[in-house]
Amino acid sequence: MCLTIPAKVIAIDNPMPDFPVAKITVEDSKGARELKSLWLPELKVGDWVLYAYDTAVRRVSEEDAREILELLEPKKHIDISRLDTGFVEVLKSHTAGTLSRDGIVRLLKTEDPVETETLFAEANTVRQAALKDFFCIHGIVEFSNHCVRECHYCGLRKGAAGVARYRMTPDEIVSTVEDAVRKRGYKLIVLQSGDDFHYTDETLVDIIRRIKKSSKVFIFMSVGERSLECYRKMKAAGASGSLFRFETSNRELYNSVHPGQSYEKRMKLLKGMKELGYYIASGFLVGLPGQTVEDIAEDILMMKEMKVNMASVGPFIPCVSTPLSAHPAGSAELSLKAIAILRLLMPKAKIPVTTALETIESEEGRRLGLSSGANSLMFNLTPERYRGEYRIYPNKYHGNAEVWEKYGLFNEELSYRMLEKKMFEAFEVAK
Ligand code: SAH
Repeated sequence: MCLTIPAKVIAIDNPMPDFPVAKITVEDSKGARELKSLWLPELKVGDWVLYAYDTAVRRVSEEDAREILELLEPKKHIDISRLDTGFVEVLKSHTAGTLSRDGIVRLLKTEDPVETETLFAEANTVRQAALKDFFCIHGIVEFSNHCVRECHYCGLRKGAAGVARYRMTPDEIVSTVEDAVRKRGYKLIVLQSGDDFHYTDETLVDIIRRIKKSSKVFIFMSVGERSLECYRKMKAAGASGSLFRFETSNRELYNSVHPGQSYEKRMKLLKGMKELGYYIASGFLVGLPGQTVEDIAEDILMMKEMKVNMASVGPFIPCVSTPLSAHPAGSAELSLKAIAILRLLMPKAKIPVTTALETIESEEGRRLGLSSGANSLMFNLTPERYRGEYRIYPNKYHGNAEVWEKYGLFNEELSYRMLEKKMFEAFEVAK
């Protein structure tokens, strides 16, 4: 669903009092803006409304408005007077489309807190300019933790001991999604699993068909390396997107942490998905062993070159029963910098705050992500009894969805249409 943003009404311009849609002017920390307003009887100047994109949809108390504003406002004041001019030049080069690989490395490498904050603030400004305040809330259902792969970082790898493996039945998957759409207002849901061939192509296709028949929701599949033919069939059944990270653009590094898999094969499949017309959600891990800042700069440039629609970046988190259990976690700050740079390079992309970032930083991770260029959140909808077992890494953050859901736009049609419009725009940009 779309996240609604609070603002205070400073003028109401409604020449026809009986006309259901009014024009209003609201004010928030960024100044005044004009909105369309749905029929909000007795709306007065001085009231607070929630808006999404360019439409005010609900009246709220000032107290409620302040709660969400708290979560969205960047807190730090930046003193830019002492910034290095070289840094400012690099930072601003995105406006001319000339942010280079060396420039990206410069931004990633900075350890100066003022420079870092300035990078985040610039990304936040670019997000606002490109997307207004269009934030999305998505859900993820982790339907199976069985996996045939041996990825060195992942706690669900085939050889990992001590994992209670589960599989949700197609009925369970369908009803979990239906509930999330009907009772909680979700409009975009990711179905994720390990690479689990117990589910045949036909089973996955059938699950997608059933969901699309009963619910107005976008479905993103995150089921790993299956045949391109399987992806073709899932798309034809109604899947819109594919969440499939390339994990790292460094071929040797990729091959060293994915025994039995190949970088070429994964990239070929990703390109195939794009050609099939999938909305592509892809990205990389920060903090893999031996990964350099230069590698991350390449990862970022590759996302831009591939014109991914959703850019998903998160820190590696060590997990027991994996070859990387003793390897230190990836840096949250470096992940945030990568998010911010992606926003500079891809102003209209959807950039989620990943669960891994939230796991390291908890609720603060959300706020930091959203004020550093990210514009969407992913909530866990996996049924409680399975949730703890989907342990790709330990202590996965399942923070309070409630406060965010409370401000989500529930109006079925409006929310779906807004998302559709945004996704369509993203496809246009990505062409
Ligand atoms: N089988 C699917 C889904 C994999 S899990 C596929 O291959 O695409 C989803 C993502 O979780 C992975 O792409 C990986 O980037 C991330 N992940 C796995 N283990 C992780 C860990 N220990 N720390 C952080 N992220 C991890």
